[in-house]
Amino acid sequence: MSRKRRKERVFDVEARIDWMEIYRTLPIGGVRQAFPDTASCQRRLADVRWPSGVTCPSCGDRNIGLIESRSLYQCRQCRTQFSVTAGTTMHRSRLDLRTWFIAASDVITAYAKGLEEENLTGHGLAHRYEISYVAAHRLKTALVKDLRQPGNLLRACICTEELPVSREPNLAPEDWYAVLWAAK
Ligand SMILES: [Zn+2]
Repeated sequence: MSRKRRKERVFDVEARIDWMEIYRTLPIGGVRQAFPDTASCQRRLADVRWPSGVTCPSCGDRNIGLIESRSLYQCRQCRTQFSVTAGTTMHRSRLDLRTWFIAASDVITAYAKGLEEENLTGHGLAHRYEISYVAAHRLKTALVKDLRQPGNLLRACICTEELPVSREPNLAPEDWYAVLWAAK
């Protein structure tokens, strides 16, 4: 094996482990069950974005009302109206927020298990989420890039669990991956 190939292989294992660690913090019963509708996703996103209470993106005030009929917040101080996704990747997306949650979980699962080539084809995703091929491809590219960032907002929303096992020092990467795979 050439030095270059060996380097790529090491990177692959580490990347796979990264995804598997993220996968093991997904809700036990799955994202679809944990977030059964759009409203539950909006509540979760609001809790993660604003742990100390909804905050106006314009003036920073926390005296905020909710216009329920339009799923919008309104600042009582400066009157700015904003949605829970304002200023995030999910803003002005044609995709429902719950579809973002589910797609993120699907991407994490596929990469954790090494099934991305089978399970994440552009046509497959387009069909599954009822979106265009171009939108599906764009969605996948964005998710693959963003979800591995520890501070990613979408990742923080759907990864509700603690990692169920901890890594022993000196454990070989392949063995750690096997432990993660078997963990419940
Ligand atoms: Zn304001």
